[in-house]
Amino acid sequence: MAEASGLAVPGGEARPTVFAEISALALATGAANLGQGFPDADGPEWVRELAVQAIRDGINQYPAGRGSRALRGAIADHQRRHYGIELDPEREVLVTAGATEAIAATLLALVGPGDEVVTLEPFYDSHAASIAMSGAAHVTVPLAPNDGGFALDAEALDAAVGERTRVILLNTPHNPTGTVLTDAELAAVAAAARRVGALVVTDEVYEHLVFDGNVHTPIAALPGMFERTLTISSAGKSFSLTGWKIGWVSGPAELVDAVMAVKQFLTYSGGAPFQPAIARALTDGAGDIAELRGSLAARRDVLVSGLREVGFDAIVPGGTYFVCADATPFLGHETPDGAAFARALPAAIGVACIPVSAFCRSGSPTAEALANWVRFTFVKDEATIRTAIDRLRGLPRSG
Ligand code: GLN
Repeated sequence: MAEASGLAVPGGEARPTVFAEISALALATGAANLGQGFPDADGPEWVRELAVQAIRDGINQYPAGRGSRALRGAIADHQRRHYGIELDPEREVLVTAGATEAIAATLLALVGPGDEVVTLEPFYDSHAASIAMSGAAHVTVPLAPNDGGFALDAEALDAAVGERTRVILLNTPHNPTGTVLTDAELAAVAAAARRVGALVVTDEVYEHLVFDGNVHTPIAALPGMFERTLTISSAGKSFSLTGWKIGWVSGPAELVDAVMAVKQFLTYSGGAPFQPAIARALTDGAGDIAELRGSLAARRDVLVSGLREVGFDAIVPGGTYFVCADATPFLGHETPDGAAFARALPAAIGVACIPVSAFCRSGSPTAEALANWVRFTFVKDEATIRTAIDRLRGLPRSG
């Protein structure tokens, strides 16, 4: 489990995450880095100025453990405005050090040895690591390529969710595939959770980055689901401020209290001057989010059409920062699969991407099905994306 999750075993060496590893390769080779998903343009200046002002105004000591009142209020308003979810900001919202801490604290609070946590596969790397830290077992349900997209296998979901399932850990819009789960898929997850009395924890950090009229629906908004769901999101992706690490978790008071009990001993609290800035961004930043969404959709189109011209089978994502593509036409003796390809690519032609197998358990059917796939990010300026495409044109085709 420790190995599959990327966690170091005691006495072993600390392995960097795949994102850190590939970014280091990109830096060393001067590659166009379409690997790690972080924006190369910072978020709105007015939001950044608010944080500067907060530092000048002396908002520099520990904020309240649950997060500043203003931010908790803004999060509650945001959930009501966008999704019709009513939250009590005093009891049902907790601010965290990014969504990553929210996920870790939630799993440590809710599950342990003997429990099972079900995720989609591929899954985001920290989800597997947090499950491993909790001591629970990790069970996966494939998200398989199907009709130009990725679809949840409903039969596999039903088989995976059983007596021991304590939590279904969802991620939509989904990293790495860019899938926005449909209402039917969400209903299937809700039905499975209800059937066994499981909780749902949902990572929705790309909630606003959906394209082509796709609609993101939080599973907590489905009938009867609020009481069994903890919803996690953050400001990093919506406002291109990934280094601020302001995230949050919301849901029923007793579940949020359980997460708070763990969170207070992880970071206690943090990000004091960023919290008022994000509170305002959530309230007044709809225009900035719409602009980002539009520009990302345009950059996605440049990347998808470029990859297809070069010869990749690329899937058009409904949301997120990412395009997954089958690299089979370019694999060869030295680079027999996506993992070898992604590690060789920076030095070979100056482009970085992430192997999709890094988001799978080694040896699983999904890992085998997606062994040749790689993930490219389009949250980079258009010139970088075009440079990457031009360089990819130089890739020799196998066979
Ligand atoms: N979320 C980013 C990605 O998927 C990576 C963040 C990180 O490096 N941990 O690319």
